[in-house]
Amino acid sequence: MAFSFNTLVSPGVGALTPYIPGRPPPALQKTFALHRARALASNENVLGASRRAMRVARRAVRDVHLYPDGGAHDLRDALAAHYAIDVERILVGNGSNDVLVLLAQSFLSERTSAVYSKHAFVVYALATQMCGATPLVAQAHLWGHDLKAMLKLVREDTRIVFVANPNNPTGTWVSGDALRDFMRALPAEVLVVVDEAYYEYVNVSDYPHSLTLQREFPNLIITRTFSKIYGLAGLRVGYCIADPEIVAILNRVRQPFNVNHVAQKAAMAALGDSAHVRRSYKMNNAGLMQLSKGLNALGVEVLPSVANFVCFKVPDLLKEDELYSSLLSRGIIIRSVAKVYDMPGYMRVTVGTRSDNSAFLNALGQCIKHAL
Ligand SMILES: *Cc1c(COP(=O)(O)O)cnc(C)c1O
Repeated sequence: MAFSFNTLVSPGVGALTPYIPGRPPPALQKTFALHRARALASNENVLGASRRAMRVARRAVRDVHLYPDGGAHDLRDALAAHYAIDVERILVGNGSNDVLVLLAQSFLSERTSAVYSKHAFVVYALATQMCGATPLVAQAHLWGHDLKAMLKLVREDTRIVFVANPNNPTGTWVSGDALRDFMRALPAEVLVVVDEAYYEYVNVSDYPHSLTLQREFPNLIITRTFSKIYGLAGLRVGYCIADPEIVAILNRVRQPFNVNHVAQKAAMAALGDSAHVRRSYKMNNAGLMQLSKGLNALGVEVLPSVANFVCFKVPDLLKEDELYSSLLSRGIIIRSVAKVYDMPGYMRVTVGTRSDNSAFLNALGQCIKHAL
C-alpha cells in the first residue's frame, strides 16, 4: 500500500486523536448481562429531564419535517429574559461543545496559540489542535487551574484562554477574586472563554459572577449548557453569552440550522421549570456531601468539587482498570480519567441519587475489602 489518505490531512487534524466517550449503559448492560446499571460516568442528571420539557419535546416532534428556527429566536429571547441581558449577546449551539469549536474556528489558526490548563476539559485541546493553533498548557495547582501560571503562558499570538469553571474532570473551581485579577492582568485583545457547564450546581460563595465581570471585560465569554442540570444531554443544546460583536462573528461560522427544533423547544421548557433545577441542585448538594464523607470513611482521597461529580484517587492496593471492571460487574459505571486527562490513579464518579451513591460506596468498599 503506497498511498495513505493521512498524507492529505490538514496538519491540525493529523495530530488529533478522537474523543472516546464511555459506552452507553444499554450496551454495557448487554455485554455484562446486568439487570440494571447505574450510569455514573457522564455527569448527566440522574433525575432525568424535567417532565415539562419532555412533554414539550414530544409535541415538537410533529414539526420535524420543517427546518428549525435557524436563529433560535424564542430560545434566545427566553435566555435573555432569564439573565436580564440583551438577546444580541446570546448564541446557541449544538451543545456548548459546538460553541467551543465555533470559537476556535473563528479565532484560532496556524499562526496563533491558545492557553489552557493541564487536566482541563479535553475539548479545548481538540478544538485548538483541529485549527492548527499552538496549545500552551499550564501546570495545574492541586489538580485545579492556576490562573497565574496560565497568565505567564500568554504570548503575542495568543487568541483564546480556556478556563473550565468548575473543571471537568477535577471538579475544582477558580474564585471570583482570582478570575478578576486574571482579567485585569490580561491584554484586552485576548479572549477568555469561561466554560460554566456546571454553573447551576455551584454552591460556594467565592464563585465568580461572570456576567457582572463581563460588563467590565468584553473579552470575557461565558459558555453554559442544557446538558447537565437541565438533563438534556441527548438533545444537544448549549450557548454562550458574549459581546454582540463576538456573537456576530460566531454567527458567520455557525451552521445555519445547528440546533434542532425539538431541542430548542425542550430547552425553553426546561429553562422555565425552575422546580426541577432546584430539586436537582438539592439532590446534588446532599450527594456531594454523601460521596465525600463516604469516600473519606473508606480512606479514599477526594478532590473538592462544586460540580455534579467527584474525582477520587484509586486506593493504592487497587488497579484502576480492575476497579472499573469490578464496579461494572456490580452494576456501577464510572469513568477513568487516567489516560485522557493524564491523571493516573484517579477516577470520576457522577453524583447520583442517595441510593446510587450508597450503591457505589458499598461496591467500592467491597472492592477494597477483597483487595486487602
Ligand atoms: C459536559 C461539559 C460541557 C458540555 O458539553 P455539551 O456539549 O454542552 O453537552 C462543556 N464543558 C465541560 C467542562 C463539560 O464537562
